[in-house]
Amino acid sequence: MPDVLVLVDHDGERVHKSTYELLAAARRLGDPAAVVLGGPGTASRLTEALARHGATSVHAAESAEATEFLTTPAVDALELAVREVRPAAVLVSATTDGKEVAGRLAARLDAGLLTDAVDLDPSGTVTQIVFGGSCTVRARVTHGTPVIAVRPGSFEPEECPVAAVRHDLVLPPIDPAASARVTGRRAALAGDRPALTEAAVVVSGGRGVGGADGFKVVERLADALGGAVGASRAAVDAGYYPHQYQVGQTGKSVSPRLYIALGISGAIQHLAGMQTSKTIVAVNKDPEAPVFGLADYGVVGDLFAVAPQLTDEVAAR
Ligand code: FAD
Repeated sequence: MPDVLVLVDHDGERVHKSTYELLAAARRLGDPAAVVLGGPGTASRLTEALARHGATSVHAAESAEATEFLTTPAVDALELAVREVRPAAVLVSATTDGKEVAGRLAARLDAGLLTDAVDLDPSGTVTQIVFGGSCTVRARVTHGTPVIAVRPGSFEPEECPVAAVRHDLVLPPIDPAASARVTGRRAALAGDRPALTEAAVVVSGGRGVGGADGFKVVERLADALGGAVGASRAAVDAGYYPHQYQVGQTGKSVSPRLYIALGISGAIQHLAGMQTSKTIVAVNKDPEAPVFGLADYGVVGDLFAVAPQLTDEVAAR
């Protein structure tokens, strides 16, 4: 079986769920081979978890410098691994950072790139969401090593323990003039809530929430369900909630098991970021709101009456 490279998303101690999803996707095409970029010791800390999810090899690109720069070290690491392994494909998460890595890698390799993949079959044919979510196409890379950015939430993580073999990658020196350096880091505001792109449940609020205070109703329901909070662009632009929680074409893409839209009309640009959610529930006081065309369950009503009842019902269980 050919190797399939997977770029590992992690926080230095913990592998993100999106990587386990990529490893499950990679198994459709060959043997998953994880590429870990981080400071010294990172790959050793993550190897057990990666091997438990089917990584037959771990390519360690470790350097203190690697964590100080955006994008370039990840592209360097993947390029080195591709030239050594000649994989059947390279998979990365279709996050903002992941798509940037994927694009640059494909350019360097002179290879084809497919983004926003939501499914792939053993022949290498990829199902992807295009044009801001208005179309789904099936496509295949015909030139070079396919570089595929997979939407978080599209595959189920699977435990499949194997023994992982370690390979070390020696990163080239980074040219600071050609790279973006990280100048500082701030903790996200999510508190104890799961990350938006990893959460099994996302409760999002829109302009209908009416203000920053109104978002407490959204947060309470999210907390009762152990979920993350999202927001429409209208809510973000109006200053109700921070931009990092925006879902949609120009925000984050999510594919949770359950997506609850409170006071969101269902513009195509919002749907582009959440339409692959497994079950969609919409609460809107306008029975004609387009979101009801996509929702599996719809409640026509005032979100300030409906959401607290839902929260109480969930909390009582
Ligand atoms: P509205 O469309 O104003 O809808 C508010 C809804 O709340 C209405 O349906 C109303 O009936 C309902 N409502 C009001 N009060 C209540 C209540 N008390 N109870 C229940 N329901 C109530 N949008 C995104 O979300 N994400 C993106 O990434 C994004 N990217 C974009 C990119 C481009 C290039 C462009 C042009 C637009 C983009 N947009 C994006 C904006 C998008 O077109 C919509 O304007 C936006 O999604 C609307 O947000 P909304 O549904 O919260 O607001």
